[in-house]
Amino acid sequence: DPVYKPLAIEDVQHFRTLLGPHDVITTFGDAPQDAGDALTSFNTDWTRHFRGQSQCALRPRTTEQVAQIMQYCHQQRLAVVPQGGNTGLNGGGIALFDEVVLSLGKMDQVRTFDPVAGTLVCDAGCILQTLDAYLEPHGYTMPLDLAAKGSCQIGGNVSTNAGGVHFIRHGSLHGNVLGLEVVLADGTVLHNLTTLAKDNTGYDLKHLFIGAEGTLGIVTGVAIKSAPLRRNKRVAVLGVSSMEKAQQILALSRTSLAECLSAFELWDDECMETLMERTRLPVKRPLADRHPFYLLVEISSTEESHLTERVGVYVNSLVGTDLATDGVLSQDQSQFRDLWNVREALPMGILGQACLTYDLTFTPDQFYSVVPVLRERLTQAGLYQGYQGGGIVQAVGGMGHFGDGNIHVAVALREQSREVANVVEPFVYEWTAENGGSISAEHGLGLLKVPYLRLAKPEPMIQVMRQMKAALDPLGILNPYKVLPPSRVQHT
Ligand code: FAD
Repeated sequence: DPVYKPLAIEDVQHFRTLLGPHDVITTFGDAPQDAGDALTSFNTDWTRHFRGQSQCALRPRTTEQVAQIMQYCHQQRLAVVPQGGNTGLNGGGIALFDEVVLSLGKMDQVRTFDPVAGTLVCDAGCILQTLDAYLEPHGYTMPLDLAAKGSCQIGGNVSTNAGGVHFIRHGSLHGNVLGLEVVLADGTVLHNLTTLAKDNTGYDLKHLFIGAEGTLGIVTGVAIKSAPLRRNKRVAVLGVSSMEKAQQILALSRTSLAECLSAFELWDDECMETLMERTRLPVKRPLADRHPFYLLVEISSTEESHLTERVGVYVNSLVGTDLATDGVLSQDQSQFRDLWNVREALPMGILGQACLTYDLTFTPDQFYSVVPVLRERLTQAGLYQGYQGGGIVQAVGGMGHFGDGNIHVAVALREQSREVANVVEPFVYEWTAENGGSISAEHGLGLLKVPYLRLAKPEPMIQVMRQMKAALDPLGILNPYKVLPPSRVQHT
């Protein structure tokens, strides 16, 4: 985009002066021959669907360095892509052209922890799982958990407003994040790392940056409310014959388990079978027979006696009904892990290969409706003949966070196919919007869903988003081409 200045050797030299030579990865000038290889990981996302062409990745270690980088990029009109663990699923963290990648991975220190309030203040580049391990001896845990926890960073989680498997228990990051430190496009630092539980002093600016996908500022520090650790946990996997029964079990679980319900996940038979066929991970079938739907219910408590009592009441409320066809309840830690492994392997085993995937939310009664609609559409187009029935589409399945109404639809392909994508898109987004759903539940818009923003928000709201972008990033240098359609971004 001619609006931005192309990277030049002087820019690289300036960055080297700021950060030292090792934290500037580049293919420019006197760069070593293998510098391109070092840049590959910054230019490729987890799905490998998005490949950037950035020639320079920067690895600052302090907020001050981030501020200096942004001040310089603003003066020079260099476009910048913030990048965390690079596990995002919509291309949001990848440079589309030659933007400079600003990787937060070296900012990985816990700053403070208050065991009385349970508040944690840390650098944005801390890995989610590392933070969990830090909190564990203090009797606390992070208020979010997702299968990418070993790689994703808290700054990336905040910037995507990540949901994950414990959303049903702990709620959204909009509730758990107490304060943020953010570097704006011109290098101004917003020092708002408050750990106060209550602070009604005007506009609560942190909410602007939660879910902004790096388009409004660079998150460099996070203050977050951790949750008391529930060391006592069981997980049940239930085989269910219909969505009506799955809904009844969800309702029963909410009321019977109350605060002990900490995850409620669902996947269908086509996802289960595709996983078993595709995965190289050591995944064991949770139940001996096949079932149309599988539910994973996690039950947790701080007290073992309380947990045992709740589990007993819960199992009794299911036994004697025809709600579940089969079920298994973890008896020890290893069984607990094996059952969770199945759920966590689903995105890795299915989405990580030739697959189209859609992250949608609906009300519980509509949760699964989109899957049969897509199967029918692909059948009509001659591309799908039932699971493993031949044709280019191997499976059309649904999995996800049923307790939150958040379904991940997977169209598993035998090979990448534009034809299948054209049949599914934009139909799947239009159908979702027409049926009152959200076209992005928890993964954000990134690059992938920019063309469909109009399906998510009415025009006056999009206008306000543009005004906010123009106010905070008037030159449009922060993560261009993401979230808002580029042609309409107001460059001044
Ligand atoms: P990245 O992928 O590096 O970046 C994501 C976006 O945030 C980009 O737009 C980037 O520019 C921006 N960004 C990153 N860091 C910063 C920063 N410090 N300041 C400003 N902007 C920044 N997501 C869920 O919500 N729930 C799930 O259950 C879930 N499960 C997943 C399972 C697997 C196997 C995988 C691969 C992904 C899953 N995801 C899930 C998606 C992904 O892990 C999340 O979106 C995660 O929050 C991204 O964090 P990250 O550090 O990898 O960010």
